[in-house]
Amino acid sequence: MLLNLPSPRGRNIYRGYAGDFGLAGTIADETLLPIHLAYGASAAKRQGCEYDVADAQVLRYGSSQAVDVVRRSTPDILVSWLALPSLHDDLALLDEIKRAVPGVVVVALGAVCNVMPEEVLLKSNVDMAVCGWYPHYNLISQAIQVLRSSGPGQAAFDKIGGARYLKQGQMVQSPIEPCEETLDELALDVYRQLPIQKYLRDVPDIRGSTIKCISIATSTGCPYACMYCPYPIGYGRKVTHKSIPRILDELESLKTNFAVTGFSFRDQLFTHNKQRVEDLCDEMVRRDLNVKWHVEARADEVTDGLLTKMRRAGCFRIHYGVETGSPEMLRKTGKPGLEIDMAKKAFKMTKEMGIATTAHMMLGLPGENQETLKISLDLLCQINPDVASLNVTTPYPGTKLFRMADEKGWLSTRDWSRYTSFDAIMRTDELTTAQLSEARKVMRRRFRNFKLRHDSEYRRLYLKALPKAVLGRLASLFRS
Ligand code: SF4
Repeated sequence: MLLNLPSPRGRNIYRGYAGDFGLAGTIADETLLPIHLAYGASAAKRQGCEYDVADAQVLRYGSSQAVDVVRRSTPDILVSWLALPSLHDDLALLDEIKRAVPGVVVVALGAVCNVMPEEVLLKSNVDMAVCGWYPHYNLISQAIQVLRSSGPGQAAFDKIGGARYLKQGQMVQSPIEPCEETLDELALDVYRQLPIQKYLRDVPDIRGSTIKCISIATSTGCPYACMYCPYPIGYGRKVTHKSIPRILDELESLKTNFAVTGFSFRDQLFTHNKQRVEDLCDEMVRRDLNVKWHVEARADEVTDGLLTKMRRAGCFRIHYGVETGSPEMLRKTGKPGLEIDMAKKAFKMTKEMGIATTAHMMLGLPGENQETLKISLDLLCQINPDVASLNVTTPYPGTKLFRMADEKGWLSTRDWSRYTSFDAIMRTDELTTAQLSEARKVMRRRFRNFKLRHDSEYRRLYLKALPKAVLGRLASLFRS
């Protein structure tokens, strides 16, 4: 059985995000398509075994309903994905499942298993924490094959690449290397086993009209080593591409069978291979798909020609990681090769192309102080994106930043439930976590005021959305 664990009460976990560590989201009723669940189901299907797939999160199950669903299925093997902000709850629930379904072999996956398998194994009765790369198709195929032919037990675990398990209270590791991953093996009919319409998320275009989008991955992995970034940990350093015909078939199938016409491409480096992007865009136009999509891209990887093709093929928004306005901080901690001027140029070209822009900034990178915060706000106002996403830096375990923060005593907690990507849990030499939280609020407010003063379209959309936002706020106050 493949089980997407429920979110703990009062939280909304986006599993698979933040490099597969998972984010604790801010929109209570939003669930993003768990791409890993679709790949897990594909692996089980292609192995020819009877299997169940359940997304307890989108069905808003509590713990007891999730246990019941597994009890009814009585699987031999249960595969689940752990997230850092919900780790405690995830492990407690898996333990409850093990008590309720005697004999089930519980296999845990996710970036957490890559960097802290011992913590997973020692704090739970999970049988195996397996190191591997998102979305784990090959890993799950291998685990099913081995466990079906050899039965559960340490001899079998040793034949699974990246498996870690306990032997007499000590963690041991399979001698086989973790599996490389593949993206072409997604079985499109597994989408029929998931409530696809519940995963659609509104994403605004440049005119503020919202487009309902579903998440898909056309490539995974990143060879870069930005010190703060968890993606290479959970998705691997090797870039794996889905073939262009497979991408097109997937888009077409979702459009034809589920009337989905908006897509969130979840690739870390969508524009890394320009020729591939051009070929993909050409093929989308040739097949007259008529869909809309948005992507993340590196500002130093886009050109006028590439943006023209992307726009023609339906790209309506690009998210750029700007990170900071300080050139020195960017050089030390940011993306190799990216310069502030490149970011400015990319935003200008993208806007001129009629594509909406989102700038992602991180507050609290090493070296952050009041002066660098001001420089970042100035840059934000210069590039003037449609949306600014301002987050405080979370040092994910396994990153260079986490090691640095640990050594320097910058971490305020090791309570993983606070590693949400929104809580300030790391200070810098000059700013406390409280100052960073406050700085985030102030920057958001100042940028909003800047947009209200200088962007008539933003002003129009802001005023239009205001009554709904006020009602939503009041509703949440009454609920709490
Ligand atoms: S380029 Fe850097 S920030 Fe982007 S995914 Fe790769 S390591 Fe992460």
